[in-house]
Amino acid sequence: MSDTIVAAATPPGRGGIAIVRVSGPATPQIAIGVLGRLPLPRFATAAKFRAAAGAAIDDGLALYFPAPHSYTGEHVLELQGHGGPVLVEALVRRLLELGARRAQPGEFTQRAYLNGKLDLAQAEAVADLIDAASDAAARAARRSLEGEFSSRVLGLSQILGELRAEVEAGIDFADEPIDVLSEHSLRLRLQQAAAQLAALRVASRQGRVLTEGMTVVIAGRPNAGKSSLLNRLAGHDAAIVTTTPGTTRDLLRERMLLDGMPLHLLDTAGLRRAGDDIEAEGIRRARAAMAGADRILFVIDAAADPAASAYLEERALLPAEVPVTVVFNKIDLALPRPAGPELLSGGIATLRLSALTGEGVDTLATHLKACMGFDAGSTDALSARARHLEALARVDAHLLQATGQLAGGSAPELVAEELRRAQLALGEIVGVDSSDELLGRIFARFCIGK
Ligand code: GDP
Repeated sequence: MSDTIVAAATPPGRGGIAIVRVSGPATPQIAIGVLGRLPLPRFATAAKFRAAAGAAIDDGLALYFPAPHSYTGEHVLELQGHGGPVLVEALVRRLLELGARRAQPGEFTQRAYLNGKLDLAQAEAVADLIDAASDAAARAARRSLEGEFSSRVLGLSQILGELRAEVEAGIDFADEPIDVLSEHSLRLRLQQAAAQLAALRVASRQGRVLTEGMTVVIAGRPNAGKSSLLNRLAGHDAAIVTTTPGTTRDLLRERMLLDGMPLHLLDTAGLRRAGDDIEAEGIRRARAAMAGADRILFVIDAAADPAASAYLEERALLPAEVPVTVVFNKIDLALPRPAGPELLSGGIATLRLSALTGEGVDTLATHLKACMGFDAGSTDALSARARHLEALARVDAHLLQATGQLAGGSAPELVAEELRRAQLALGEIVGVDSSDELLGRIFARFCIGK
């Protein structure tokens, strides 16, 4: 990297202070150009930021971090001036004149990654930390940024590497399958690795929900109170409501965010009618929305349907792998206490509330947050991306193959190959041998100046 980049590190707009950051080999001479001298490393230096003709553009503090002890690992200069957009742009233009170029989104962090300051999963955690919409998401991002996710990934990769070395050692000695004793020991250690992988997948799945949100579909018969419930939830915690104008045949009518968690609204009455092609398309979309959901809230009109027959009739049409919470609504009207969990076998959570009076809605919000991992007990979530989860799923598949081959007495070459592929998938997470295309995709999602 031979060029030097510049960008405002603080958000655009007015503020008390704005920070402009420069990184790259030309930083020292740029500093001299704008400040008249090179500030003492890592000391706050009061200075005037000067235009070419010598007039002050602004004044403030200058901080100089010589390579390699900086965020990017290069020479870095930070100028803290007054937080006005015109001043910031004038200062950036002055630094461009002195030889810097404007930074791309995420380019500072990309340089930190390329200079070995962070691995790829940690670099992604930087973006997750900045984007965190809740304390829980921020905590998960911090833990990944501190390297907990990466060290678990690397630890697992090391174990697999050792197993692979043992299996490969066997290849050179005999044409025979692996002997019984070492096969037993290998199998045990492979099981231990699989258990570690399973724990890592749980922690990172939870982290993905925290960073990327959980999709909840609110389903039920017309008039059960789905819209009322959505509006109630929207009033809770200052959520944002967006109403998508849809036709009566468009089943997904509304969408909102509850603490970063998308909620969709869906009528299940529409799931069964298919009068024409358009309606069939609506049903297809509704099914797809439910299948892609992390949870379904099935709303029952407890006054009209205390036995939850709407849910019992609809159950077979819901995707089997998506967990369901049955919500008995309108408890302000329901005189006989509606049926509780005893009605619904199979670990279905049930809640009672009134969307009209608001009674019980807090409990629902707490329940949803607990499902997302917001509860105090879940302190080990690690912020993770879909790409990490997908790589971990491949690791799992390779370990499963390897275990099967060991048990089936397959040639050691095959076992070693599965272990090698599992290691490659782990390497993708932390960015061993990452393609430029992948790096481009990851860093393009950052903000400029980070
Ligand atoms: P949707 O078709 O499932 O979206 O149902 P709506 O939210 O439009 O509600 C249908 C009707 O039930 C409306 O008249 C609501 O005011 C009423 N409703 C919704 N929730 C409650 C509730 O908790 N208690 C009472 N008494 N009425 C409710």
